[in-house]
Amino acid sequence: MKIGVLSFQGDFQLHTSAIGQAGAEPVEVRNRDQLFSCEGLIIPGGESTTLLKFLEFEDFTQPLVDFGRERPIFGTCAGAILLAREVENPSQCSLGLMDIRVRRNAYGRQADSHTEICRSPVLAQEAFEANFIRAPIISRIGPSVKVLAYSGSDPIWVREGLHWAATFHPELSHDRRIHRMFLERVRQARKIADCELRIAD
Ligand code: GLN
Repeated sequence: MKIGVLSFQGDFQLHTSAIGQAGAEPVEVRNRDQLFSCEGLIIPGGESTTLLKFLEFEDFTQPLVDFGRERPIFGTCAGAILLAREVENPSQCSLGLMDIRVRRNAYGRQADSHTEICRSPVLAQEAFEANFIRAPIISRIGPSVKVLAYSGSDPIWVREGLHWAATFHPELSHDRRIHRMFLERVRQARKIADCELRIAD
C-alpha cells in the first residue's frame, strides 16, 4: 500500500522513513499523479505559511481537497493547521477539511518547544511521546470531531471522518504505533470504499 507524504517543505523525510518502518510504501508527493497513486497522505510539520505558498505556486490546493474528500489525510503540526477550517494568530487560508480551529504558535517561540508524555484511549492508555515544536493549539472542535489525546485540557490529536490532525510530531519519536494506526485507518477506509463501489455496481 502506497502512502504519500507531501514533500514541498518541512519534516517529510522522517515521515517517509516512519511509513516504511510501519510497513507501507512511502511516496514523496509533489504532483497530482504521485498524490492519486496513494491510498492516504501525511501532511508534515514545517511552516504552514511556506507550505501554503508552495500549494499556490504548484496549483496544488484543489488536488489536495479532492483527495481529502475520498481518502484519509493525517496532518501533523503545520499539516494540522492546513487541514483546519479556521486558523488564527493570524488568520490564514487552509484546506478546511476538518471542523477545527487552530491557533498558530500558541505555546510561544522555538525555545518553548517541548516533549510531553501523553496517553490515548486508541493506544490502550499506554504512554506515548509527543514532541511540540512551535506548535498550534486546537482552540475549537466541531461536533463530529473526536479527541484521541489531550495535553491537559487541550486536544492534541483529533479525528473527523477520514482525517486525523495532531499538533505534535509523531515522526520525531522512535515509536511507530501512531504511523501503524494511520496505515490501519487507511486500510479500513479502502475496504469501505471498495464495498461501496461493489454495492453501486
Ligand atoms: N509554527 C508553525 C506554523 O505555524 C508550525 C510548526 C511545526 O509544524 N512544527 O506553521
